[in-house]
Amino acid sequence: MAKVLIIGAGGVSSVVVHKCAQAAEVFDEIVLASRTKPRCDAIAASVRERTGRSVETARVDADNVPELVELIRRVRPQLVMNIALPYQDLHIMDACLETGVHYLDTANYEPLDTAKFEYKWQWAYQKKFQEKGLMALLGSGFDPGVTNVFCAYAQKHLLDEIHVLDIIDANAGDHGLPFATNFNPEINIREVSARGRYWERGEWVETDPLSWKMSFDFPEGIGPKNCYLMYHEELESLVLNLRGIRRARFWMTFSDNYLNHLQVLKNVGMTSIEPVQFQGQEIVPLQFLAGMLPDPASLGPRTRGKTCIGCLMRGVRDGRPRTVYVYNICDHQECYRELGSQAISYTTGVPAMVGAMMMLTGKWMKPGVWNMEQMDPDPFLEQLGRYGLPWVVSDLTEERTEGK
Ligand code: NDP
Repeated sequence: MAKVLIIGAGGVSSVVVHKCAQAAEVFDEIVLASRTKPRCDAIAASVRERTGRSVETARVDADNVPELVELIRRVRPQLVMNIALPYQDLHIMDACLETGVHYLDTANYEPLDTAKFEYKWQWAYQKKFQEKGLMALLGSGFDPGVTNVFCAYAQKHLLDEIHVLDIIDANAGDHGLPFATNFNPEINIREVSARGRYWERGEWVETDPLSWKMSFDFPEGIGPKNCYLMYHEELESLVLNLRGIRRARFWMTFSDNYLNHLQVLKNVGMTSIEPVQFQGQEIVPLQFLAGMLPDPASLGPRTRGKTCIGCLMRGVRDGRPRTVYVYNICDHQECYRELGSQAISYTTGVPAMVGAMMMLTGKWMKPGVWNMEQMDPDPFLEQLGRYGLPWVVSDLTEERTEGK
């Protein structure tokens, strides 16, 4: 039985809090804190209605380390889950070190003034966490998160070496709005507008933003979709932790409509993170744009269709070539019926809860700073399906051989 402090009260957090409440045998007490307390109260009210459990709420600015430390000392949790934004990662890690509490997040640190994410800032905490006997679990969402675990599963059970990895993320859902992002708009647009990057033969290769495209035929009725090569944070740790890796890439689907809107917004300067003067005030165009776009948490009732996120892996097993595809399919409307959320929040929130469960039940407890593929995939995957995200292993070896 454990007490958990969850920071951030957006779309993903709502799923995390509901799922922790469902797993009452692990999460004995739940405290939810964010900058805007009414958002925490609204989530707590929904949890009470759906599960009958109560969630304590508080206000905190997670960029203010002394304020965080005070809250953690008062609440005395075993684990702090950072479900706010990547900008808060290091502040919350500092507060955890000061108070002797374990840490988990879903996205790696990104400095506010540079649209660049890298693990180096968080990996630098390895020794500090080890010395204090504390654990920090990085990237416990879907991608990063479950995708790392799918790779670890393949490495443990399916392939002796993984030579080629393609992580493919499809949101085949439709919210019917001209333009909206399915998670925090500022983080989403920073990620999508960045230069592409993939790993090949021991080095990183850069591409212009969204300049590489392929069509992938997604399973279970989703069908063929255009996917664009992007850089994604899990590649950085996976290329270090997968045996025999020669090439690793990440792809995401976008509709022509999304890309056209993004191009226009970029052309007129609205995706820039450089501050500009507007009517005597300094504003950051992307922050202003993010403020105008729909709140991702509000997309639940109107989003229909499915997501399909998985890892296509080619390698060898017992000296013979083998290709496997490990994936999850999630239905937006089913998520909405269960928790009032759309599938992107749901597919991120469930693994965050399962990662926390792994730590708090001791299955993954190991002092230091770790990425998900460094842990045993089996207990995690056992719980993932149980809490709403079943996964499929498909052996494509025969199909590939016949096609040649
Ligand atoms: P939202 O914008 O919906 O929610 C973010 C929340 O963080 C808001 O409640 C906001 O509070 C809170 N917050 C922001 N700054 C602070 C602060 N300084 N102190 C306290 N709280 C703060 O985002 P999402 O729920 O869509 O995304 C949450 C996280 O999940 C992001 O880091 C995102 O990158 C990550 N993510 C990871 C994925 C994965 O698969 N690994 C996929 C999708 C998202 P307030 O409302 O008061 O401003």
